Amino acid sequence: MTLTIRTRLASVFAIAALCATALGCAQTGSSPAPTPADAKAFLDTVNKTMLKLGIEQGTAGWVQQNFITDDTEAIAARANQAYIDAVARFAKEATNYDKVDVPADQRRQLMLLKVSLVMATPGDPKESDELTRIAARLESTYGKGKWCPDPSKPETCKNIDEVTRILASSRNEKELRAAWEGWHTIAPPMRKDYQRFVELSNKGAKELGFADTGAMWRAKYDMPPDDFTKELDRLWTQVQPLYLKLHAYVRMKLREKYGDVVPANGPIPAHLLGNIWAQDWSNVYPLVSPKNADAGYSLTDILKKRNMPPLEMVRTGERFYTSLGFAPLPKPFWERSLFVRPKDRDVVCHASAWDIDLESDVRIKMCIEQNAEDFTTIHHELGHNFYQRAYKDQAVLFRDSANDGFHEAIGDTIALSVTPEYLVKIGLLDKAPDTSRDIGLLMTKALEKVGFLPFGLLIDEWRWKVFSGEITPAAYNKAWWDLKLKYQGVAPPSGRGEEFFDPGAKYHVPDNTPYTRYFLAAILQFQFHRALSQTAGCTLPLNRCSIYESKPAGDKLNTMLSMGLSHPWPEALEALTGSKQMDATAILDYFEPLSRWLDTQLAGKPVGWK
Ligand SMILES: [Zn+2]
Repeated sequence: MTLTIRTRLASVFAIAALCATALGCAQTGSSPAPTPADAKAFLDTVNKTMLKLGIEQGTAGWVQQNFITDDTEAIAARANQAYIDAVARFAKEATNYDKVDVPADQRRQLMLLKVSLVMATPGDPKESDELTRIAARLESTYGKGKWCPDPSKPETCKNIDEVTRILASSRNEKELRAAWEGWHTIAPPMRKDYQRFVELSNKGAKELGFADTGAMWRAKYDMPPDDFTKELDRLWTQVQPLYLKLHAYVRMKLREKYGDVVPANGPIPAHLLGNIWAQDWSNVYPLVSPKNADAGYSLTDILKKRNMPPLEMVRTGERFYTSLGFAPLPKPFWERSLFVRPKDRDVVCHASAWDIDLESDVRIKMCIEQNAEDFTTIHHELGHNFYQRAYKDQAVLFRDSANDGFHEAIGDTIALSVTPEYLVKIGLLDKAPDTSRDIGLLMTKALEKVGFLPFGLLIDEWRWKVFSGEITPAAYNKAWWDLKLKYQGVAPPSGRGEEFFDPGAKYHVPDNTPYTRYFLAAILQFQFHRALSQTAGCTLPLNRCSIYESKPAGDKLNTMLSMGLSHPWPEALEALTGSKQMDATAILDYFEPLSRWLDTQLAGKPVGWK
């Protein structure tokens, strides 16, 4: 998963809010009620300011990630803070125009400003200051988190990359358990801070008119917060049967490997799924791989054999989009992107797409290697750039995806079109393998995407209940594991009482980044892929459909992308799929061959958990 630079709006948190302009401040009391002209002037200022500060933040961030030094970090932090402060100020000022009669597009911009905060600070400067400090401390506690097997020997401490590698590659149950428990030692010190964080951020959210911070997050989705929760439940109910089958099959295979530590009909131990949080099961593929069902070719081998240069891999990705009718990427993209790891300095190599000036200066930053994963990731990253290009003529406040799940979903949608048939068309593969070889490919994808779904849901279910008070501090950890069991069918390897704070061991909790977007993206990408494949006239099984070279599919895609955030997301969804409702049945369609295969493997075997 990667970031687009526009997610900076969503990751904003507020500091002490002041009235920026005389014209906006309702609480001054004596000033006259604002007029529609005032509202228009306010929004003009907002759009102009955010563009200016956004460009400063984008360029500073780019330099920082390409030349990592203390100075570039300081410069980037300053630019971030300036942006965050401005958004926080504007969000509070926007409430002054609640009763002013303005055109619909201006009303939407005012609404978006009000829901753009992830954390609202209380009006009391002391409390505001305390909250800001706690938020920073939570983040840095996680960032510095290390597992020290022997505290007397600091050189043996392991950071998250090292723990991740053990979870991914070790097949030794004891070693996996030690690493899992080890990583979770970073979190108990966060517990008190998190409790206070919840109290103070709720206070800030209430001052903005929301019931609590969780309600403020849900308000972003163009529907009443409770309706949105029901929507998520409905989507989960659609995919749950497929998840249960995958869970049962993986459990059966892990039991063959690890024995009685994996119960025959109970939850899967959390440390055996190849990932610290059991959120992506790809790493256990070698333990569960179906026999004689490999694709029969390796894209990585093909790329290496042809010695395809990174730049040519990017050109190939661009041709995918131009084949749909999109204009080629602008000149700055080719001049300013980072495609290969520089030899002379440290850079952040994690793949990302950027939109520096919210217009034509789009870029990707990757350290491309000749392998299948990077080939697919290029298609994904360019999806962000083409989205950004498509909405560049909208008002600045509308230059973002229809909701926060859409941006990631688009990149992944295109990545789903990187099929054997596509590789044949672009000359990388002579002949597509028979569809009987699909089970291996589908299993790989299911371990990543289907395995993820319940995790994508439960992080915010836990947080929403924490913010609302339904989960009290005395039951933080119990409630966490109750949800892990309910949705994922996963249990901790050992007793986890309230002396622990296991949610804190997942980045997005101490960092306070909402998580539902990843669940939405996981659902939407298949719905987009099915709709576009139908438009492209594909009659193959859905997992074999590629929209490459389909102008009609490109038109539909472009219609939705160019809307940006200017309309409620159900309207954007309708423009592409013909439906205003999210629909997880596309996932079932896509994995239908695997689902049937799982049925034969599971005949007479337990499904579900006690
Ligand atoms: Zn991405």
